[in-house]
Parts: sequence; C-alpha cells; structure tokens
Amino acid sequence: MTRKFFIGGNWKCNGTVDEVKKIVCMLNGGEVPCPNHIETIISPPFIFIPMVKSCLRTDFQVAAQNCWTKKGGAFTGEISAEMLKNLGVPWVILGHSERRTLMHETDQVVAEKVDYALSQGLKVCLCVGESLKERECNETAQVVSRQVQAVAARVGCWANVVIAYEPIWAIGTGKVASPEQAQEVHYNLRKWIDCHISCQVAQDIRIIYGGSVTAANCKQIGGQPDVDGFLVGGASLKEEFIEILNARN
Ligand code: PEP
Repeated sequence: MTRKFFIGGNWKCNGTVDEVKKIVCMLNGGEVPCPNHIETIISPPFIFIPMVKSCLRTDFQVAAQNCWTKKGGAFTGEISAEMLKNLGVPWVILGHSERRTLMHETDQVVAEKVDYALSQGLKVCLCVGESLKERECNETAQVVSRQVQAVAARVGCWANVVIAYEPIWAIGTGKVASPEQAQEVHYNLRKWIDCHISCQVAQDIRIIYGGSVTAANCKQIGGQPDVDGFLVGGASLKEEFIEILNARN
C-alpha cells in the first residue's frame, strides 16, 4: 500500500495582508512534486482564507485551523463546518496542541469536532501528541492512543482523516524529535489502530509528523517508513517550506 505523502503548512495566528501576499507568491512560484506524489494543505488564519483561496495555486488545498463542534448559531466568535464547506474549504486541522492546551479543548471536544466536520464533508487533520512530562514518564503511546480512541468512539470512517503526531515539546521549540523517535510513535500508533480500529485503516491512514520540521531535518524524518508527511508551523511561513515540500525527492 502506498500512502500519498501529505504536507500541511500551519500559519497559526500569523500574517498581515502584505505578508500573506508574499507567502502566497512564494508558494505559487515554488517547484514542488506533482499532485500525484504529494498532497498539500495550507492553513492560514480564518480571516485570510478567502484571500488565500482566491490566489493560491490549485494544486495546494486550503485548510482551516479549527471549527465549531456543531451546526452554527448563537456561538459568538466561532466558525462552523458548514461555513467552511460553503466557502469551498476542503480541510480543517483539529485538536492542535495549542488549542488543547490554551483553549482547554478536551479529547471529547476534539472528537465532537472531528465527527461533526466529517459529517459535513470536510477532511480532517487530527493532531495528537504528548507533553514533555508525559514522554519522560513513558506515557507517549498511551496518550496518543487515548486521543485517537476518543475520536474512534464517535467516528466509523477514517478515509478523510490524516493524523498528525505532534509532540508538544517539539512544537515551535526548535527541539525536533529524532527520526527514530518519530518512527517509533508512528509505528506504535499504526499497530494500535490495527488492533482497535481495523487493519485496513492502519494500512491506509496517513500519520504525519509535526514539531520543528525544517529544510535541514525533513529528509531524514520523512524517510521513515511510517512517516507519511509533515505538519509544519514556523517553517511554513518561510522559503524553506518549498524545500520541505521536496523532502521525498
Ligand atoms: C505546528 O504548529 O503544528 C507545528 C508543528 O509548529 P512548528 O513547526 O513551528 O514546530
């Protein structure tokens, strides 16, 4: 089974109109593998989504960084899955550790969001990952499988889900997981999926790595058998993102 390499650029809460124009220009001019070999999502802040969508090359898809747990209505400040669908946004990133930690999104809230987004026809990049303390207590596999289990309790079809393993201690810190550490977690998670979801899902689902991925480390991490791509934060705002998109070349 070959899983198509998947790379996401998560801009987080960054950018001005001018900066967005510059990044889109850089992306549009970049030489990258053809869409037969790689799937790419670009995730700007909500407010820039229409602008990015209107001028970004069509082989890159746009993703939101979050959405509401259910149908829209009296939920001030939220963006619903229906709105994303209506705008033609195909992907949403859910469960990012910054939302789990800073916005107190529990496993159950994340699972609710994933379930609802999928039911509305969105594709989901589901983020999971352990804290430094959990890693030091050897709880990584347990934490990551618990986070996926919460989603599995609600979701039956995984065809439109990509899982991003993002150790919290590696996000935005410059402290990247070694290729072996990433491979170990991805391998164990795939094994867990095989036992608790299905053998087919385990074979097909893309598990990507996120946490201080750069042009300098992407080839080694991306060369691991169970690493199917990356979710990139800081480096997705820079020229080096094009090199990262070529990690498997
Ligand atoms: C992220 O935001 O998902 C991320 C991995 O950030 P960074 O690449 O900056 O560590």
